[in-house]
Amino acid sequence: MSAQPTSLDAVRPWRTITRRPCRKIKVGAVEVGGDAPIAVQSMTNTLTHDVDATVGQIRRLEEVGADIVRVSVPDKESSAALRAIVDQVKVPLVADIHFHYKRGLEAADNGAACLRINPGNIGGQDRVREVVAAARANGCSIRIGVNGGSLERDLLEKYGEPCPDAMVESALMHARMLDEEGFHDYKISVKASDIFLTVAAYHQLAEATDAPLHLGITEAGGQRIGTVKSSIGMGNLLWAGIGDTIRVSLSDEPEEEIRVGFDMLKSLGLRTRGVNIISCPSCARQGFDVIKTVRELEDRLSHIHEPISLSIIGCVVNGPGEAMFTDIGFTGGSAGYGMMYHAGKKSGKTDNDDMIAEIVEAVEARAEVLRAERDGAMAAE
Ligand code: SF4
Repeated sequence: MSAQPTSLDAVRPWRTITRRPCRKIKVGAVEVGGDAPIAVQSMTNTLTHDVDATVGQIRRLEEVGADIVRVSVPDKESSAALRAIVDQVKVPLVADIHFHYKRGLEAADNGAACLRINPGNIGGQDRVREVVAAARANGCSIRIGVNGGSLERDLLEKYGEPCPDAMVESALMHARMLDEEGFHDYKISVKASDIFLTVAAYHQLAEATDAPLHLGITEAGGQRIGTVKSSIGMGNLLWAGIGDTIRVSLSDEPEEEIRVGFDMLKSLGLRTRGVNIISCPSCARQGFDVIKTVRELEDRLSHIHEPISLSIIGCVVNGPGEAMFTDIGFTGGSAGYGMMYHAGKKSGKTDNDDMIAEIVEAVEARAEVLRAERDGAMAAE
């Protein structure tokens, strides 16, 4: 498999990210690895056996663009509830199993698209064989999830503390148990809450396997610090071409994890979804209230799924330059007026009082054009 340049703008080589070649697996209908788009996922925090609450949360995650959703399966009640949940949602579900391999068998039978289970922790190769048989029979893939905080005791004794060598050795040990059964539809994660450890472990793992990699900084913290840590750690890896699916872990609503995940990928030009707003921090030169305007636009444009770039810049210092590279732009001027731009070209003066309505209208019109183009292309296939 050849390496794939994925930059949106290959004519600007400094923006090109070349993804690490790896094999492709499927989580339900979603491809992970190879040349597939980097999938964005989150995890529910409802009681899984509360079917209505779990379905409601998964639907909210679908609404903000989640490609894959993971649900905890800590007991029999939860694995039994999976069937009713799967029947009511569109995204593929990953069943999160720890220790009790029977929950894995039940989850596979009840419609999980992937099992998050570590073969080395379930009590021997015979049980691994059973899990693999259930996965095969139900078209499930598997995620091996190594966590710096729960490494095997022998590895901790060997290495003294969680370190990249220990995490990679653990991951490869679990992978070997699946390989022994001839099962290769797995992806691997080696997460830690420490970003140095996580990044080093993923770099090492990326060299040691051609399995797709699931990225995450675990227990990253609340919305702000978790976003910063995840962006530094996962951003570093994604920039190096490593990572085929991502989960941002935040002590916040799961929908926020999806929004941050997409923003991370949008920032690197690895995926496009929704409106990408480029805005200045504002200063005494601003011709309108930039901060208030951007907040309102983020809210009013959150229903747009088509990839559209929008520059909202306070004055002519940077406004015209940014507008040249965005689909729609607005630059603050003087006397209560600013300049609108379409496709990089001036399209007319706009009163500050009308600006938000006009921008929303312009973005919606552009989204409509993109939708029609996409539908036309699909019809022609
Ligand atoms: S673009 Fe203009 S308003 Fe915005 S921060 Fe720069 S100088 Fe200030």
